[in-house]
Amino acid sequence: MQPVLSEEHEMMRRSVAELVEREVIPNVRQWERDGEVHRSLFTRLAELGYLGVRLSPEFGGGGQDFWFTTVLLQELMRCGSIGVAVAIMAHAEFATKVIDRGGSRALKEKYVRPAAEGRLIGALGVSEPDAGSDVAALKTRAVKDGDDYIVNGSKLYISNGTIADYITTAVRTGGEGHRGISLIVIPANSDGLTRRRLQKIGTHASDTAEIFFDDVRVPASNLVGEENKGFSLIMAGFEGERLVLSVMACSQARMMFEAARTWGHDRKVFGQSLLGFQIWQHRLADVLTNLEAGEALTYQAIEKSVRGEEANSLISMAKLFTTEMAVDTARECAQIQGGLSHMEDCLIGRLYRDSLALTIGAGTSETMRGIIARTEGLSC
Ligand SMILES: Cc1cc2nc3c(=O)[nH]c(=O)nc-3n(C[C@H](O)[C@H](O)[C@H](O)COP(=O)(O)OP(=O)(O)OC[C@H]3O[C@@H](n4cnc5c(N)ncnc54)[C@H](O)[C@@H]3O)c2cc1C
Repeated sequence: MQPVLSEEHEMMRRSVAELVEREVIPNVRQWERDGEVHRSLFTRLAELGYLGVRLSPEFGGGGQDFWFTTVLLQELMRCGSIGVAVAIMAHAEFATKVIDRGGSRALKEKYVRPAAEGRLIGALGVSEPDAGSDVAALKTRAVKDGDDYIVNGSKLYISNGTIADYITTAVRTGGEGHRGISLIVIPANSDGLTRRRLQKIGTHASDTAEIFFDDVRVPASNLVGEENKGFSLIMAGFEGERLVLSVMACSQARMMFEAARTWGHDRKVFGQSLLGFQIWQHRLADVLTNLEAGEALTYQAIEKSVRGEEANSLISMAKLFTTEMAVDTARECAQIQGGLSHMEDCLIGRLYRDSLALTIGAGTSETMRGIIARTEGLSC
């Protein structure tokens, strides 16, 4: 199943594909070694008008729907590194879309416009050492002091954490639970803010950090929306993030399937191609069946979301199914490549490693099952 896209989408696809071919693929292995995407990718996408494709046109964005983000992602993923797409999405979709949705006009002018223009890079800081799946348990506290907040606490596993210029941060401004949470934009160069890069097993082109706030003073005007109303903004943002991960999962599964099929034809064992053996025909048939199902579910969830309908459950199903499917696909496709799949230069091997983050980020598979169960009347 393929979505029906307009000529405008296809123009964007060609334009991003060209950029990926010329400027991403030649650099991607170096970015993986560096542990971060070069800033030039943000500025090049901004010049083309695609960095903030879903942000408000009034503040420099493209004002488009999620299908444009889908096309952007699908093309970025062709570089063969999930980390590249994670870095761009953590900036535009995770850290900035939520300011665009809930922030004051002044805050949007201050952050959304430079974000869309690639002048500032953002990160979203929600997870903490003791609060991952259970967002409502977060402890980082912001206390009002005149026209400022003073922030103390820490954030963990934050994508773009060390390269970001601002961190859209979930903080506790009220009592316990989800009603005491606010979102505030913290400039990364604030006194008292320190950060360290984490060493990961995959998604190497995406920098992931732990961030510490020690009496960090932030203007109260940097609050996104109202005090103690941040939880619903975070949850609304999660829907876009989960669609992003679903598209990434499908894209990378398709790349792995195609590489495995080519290999299955080319590799000879015991006098015939691997795909001469029925076992491999059937295993790759299963891979493709699950991939098609995952794409169909993802496109259905995107369409529902773009139409403005309640899509939380369907998005959670798409995120659950596609990310688990991507890991299963990786295992099957790595197996058919034998020892080659364990080599650093092997696309399937690298994507296998990268795929492990997909079932964790933006809410784990267990969290997705919980949402589906609650929404569909499966819990009592
Ligand atoms: C590469 C990467 C990038 C990330 N980027 C960001 C980012 O940019 N910003 C950000 O804020 N966070 C980010 N995260 C953090 C991510 O959102 C969390 O890791 C995730 O929400 C899970 O939280 P946790 O790691 O604390 O695991 P935990 O919440 O401790 O969960 C551990 C295990 O327990 C399971 N579990 C939890 N609750 C239940 C339950 N009720 N029932 C059954 N099982 C349960 C989980 O599914 C999981 O299997 C990133 C993570 C990774 C790996």
